[in-house]
Amino acid sequence: MQLTLAVLFSAALTSVTAEQRVSYDGYKAYSIVTGDDGQAIRDKLSDLDFVALTVHEASDHFDVAIAPDDVSEFEALGLESSVISDDLGAEFAEESIFEDYYSTSDSSLDKRQASALPALSWFNSYHTYADHRLFFNDLNAAFSQNSEIFVAGKSYQGRDIYGIHFWGAGGKGKKPAVYFHATVHAREWIAAPVEEYHAWQLINGYLTNDTQITAIVDSYDFYFIPFSNPDGFVYTQTTNRLWRKNRQPRSSSSCIGTDNNRNWPFQWSLSGGASTNPCDEDYKGLAASDTPEITTLVNYTKSINTNGIKLFIDFHSYGQYILQPYGYNCGIYPANINKQLSVANQVATRIFAYSGARYTTGASCSTLYATTGSAPDYQSGVAGAEYAWTIELRPSSSSGGGFVLPANLILTTAREQWEGLKTLFAAI
Ligand SMILES: [Zn+2]
Repeated sequence: MQLTLAVLFSAALTSVTAEQRVSYDGYKAYSIVTGDDGQAIRDKLSDLDFVALTVHEASDHFDVAIAPDDVSEFEALGLESSVISDDLGAEFAEESIFEDYYSTSDSSLDKRQASALPALSWFNSYHTYADHRLFFNDLNAAFSQNSEIFVAGKSYQGRDIYGIHFWGAGGKGKKPAVYFHATVHAREWIAAPVEEYHAWQLINGYLTNDTQITAIVDSYDFYFIPFSNPDGFVYTQTTNRLWRKNRQPRSSSSCIGTDNNRNWPFQWSLSGGASTNPCDEDYKGLAASDTPEITTLVNYTKSINTNGIKLFIDFHSYGQYILQPYGYNCGIYPANINKQLSVANQVATRIFAYSGARYTTGASCSTLYATTGSAPDYQSGVAGAEYAWTIELRPSSSSGGGFVLPANLILTTAREQWEGLKTLFAAI
């Protein structure tokens, strides 16, 4: 008995050590105006304990969270900046109060509810990976003749990269694909709920015979993957809220993780659009497509590309951008770039009219910065997607909490995106 207890105790200790949560209590976050020399700002910060919230020294700002002991030293530098958060840890604590999810498959529910769509109260808070999966299972159950849950493959740690595929009157697999990814960057929690809201609205509109929505659903096959980096997402909930990359180790380094949005096999080998240092947040990997997640997603993309990909969107946060290809070269664009920009501007105009939120549009490289091996570049340049976008969701870059979008803004963000998406479908 004593031995068993000792073994249990030791196992518990090991697991506590492995899962020790990174504290951001007292971290103060700032958006620093960089002018045209982001590297100079980085040099000035080099003696401070801080976490970069923007990976790149974007053209005009660089957002950081400064450790409590270094806040006064940071302020003494006198950099032009604005405060994003007075206490990041306090905001994380508030954001991590998840509401319970009552699955429609719960056998204690009334039979009539068992075939209903999940309640929209789902969007009142953030949720666990397990509950996210239940949500899609419940959407599938409510639309069982026209949808299925798929598992594209496994993450490094063996989690399912799952999604929902649904279709309209023409039957399964007959139409061009509408293909959405979210949460390639683990800490961007608002991405999955927005994708889920789109799925919910499309299915609800079809089930309630909304003519506009039915026409959309009848025109495409929809493939929605809410977590293209499930290991990273789970890690943000157990251990480090600001984790971005996947959780794959490399034998050459003690640093963990590859940026899966720099690992797609298109223009991967160019320099300047990603890091070759495994400790960096935008580490590209040792070879194109050498992470389990990107290997899976490349194969899955090929498997659904039988009738062409009409629209690909990768949901991210934050900054409020609607970005077109390409990231790898600021002077190279897809042949239909003018049409893509025109549609993106219509979407941004619609969102602004609906909610007052401003989303900036433009080609990714020239609007933000150069990136190699990104998902939209691959979807456009290799898979031939007619529209291949990154959407950076709320908040805007200089205010509103960065990766911590308060839970009461999940539905606001999802609704404005849904208005934009309907405009998008009408325009393409
Ligand atoms: Zn991102």
